[in-house]
Amino acid sequence: MDKIIKTISESGHFRAFVLDSTETVRTAQEKHDSMASSTVALGRAFIANQILAANEKGDTKITLKILAEGATGAIISVANNKGQVKGYIQNPDLDYKKTATGEVIVGPLVGQGQFLVITDYGIGHPYHSTTPLISGEIGEDLAYYLTESQQTPSAVGLNVLLDQEDRVQVAGGFMVQVLPGASEEDISRLEKRIQAMPAISSLLASNGHMEALLAAIYGEEPYKILSEEALSFYCDCSEERFLNALAGLPVSDLEEMIAEDQGCDITCQFCRRHYHFTAEQLEELIRDKSQ
Ligand SMILES: [Zn+2]
Repeated sequence: MDKIIKTISESGHFRAFVLDSTETVRTAQEKHDSMASSTVALGRAFIANQILAANEKGDTKITLKILAEGATGAIISVANNKGQVKGYIQNPDLDYKKTATGEVIVGPLVGQGQFLVITDYGIGHPYHSTTPLISGEIGEDLAYYLTESQQTPSAVGLNVLLDQEDRVQVAGGFMVQVLPGASEEDISRLEKRIQAMPAISSLLASNGHMEALLAAIYGEEPYKILSEEALSFYCDCSEERFLNALAGLPVSDLEEMIAEDQGCDITCQFCRRHYHFTAEQLEELIRDKSQ
């Protein structure tokens, strides 16, 4: 089972999240039947969104829109703070690797664009906040967003590793933040540790990568675990939801679907689940609307 571990240093000057998102990203790959580069890009966006959602309290929903101008097209995801995330990538068919190393290419395919975060506290007026994409690698874009937009100096590492058949082998990451009260000396000690950290890919590849991440982040510095929470891919679509959406269409559109298609077919873009509505169901909607 995927999880996020939330920790804080004994000194109270730093906090860190470490995540195992392997099953989440594996499920996304299966649902969207995505190729290597698209899987890694979508998976990184999921991990980024799980970090953003874990940062919030209460019943908050975070929509992360990576409005990429490159070949990936937009990468959209929605996460809540129950650790659930759903999402899709406009182009699931990208498969580019470096010839020499076989490393999956992401940044140049995402290209330039915007990192847009919509925070919905469930009380109306969702809050929008945007920063430009700085590399398209998504981890760096998230760190820039947190540092610029939320004014919290943050370091982020996240990645998705694929096996020989391009299936998800491991996915996860970390976020470290400096908290108010940290001295210059505290900060420079943390910076040194972050700079000396092995590459995120090699940490993820190690046995027990959650422990490896925590060891690399904290070094000798004592810390405590605040909580461990489950993470998962979850789509909240349902027949009822789509029926409600259909009920919002003009009667003429519904009549056209009945006449031309004897019903209607809808595929959820977040999880690719398929729904079929019969002519009778659409006729009932029309009857309800005319009452
Ligand atoms: Zn769905």
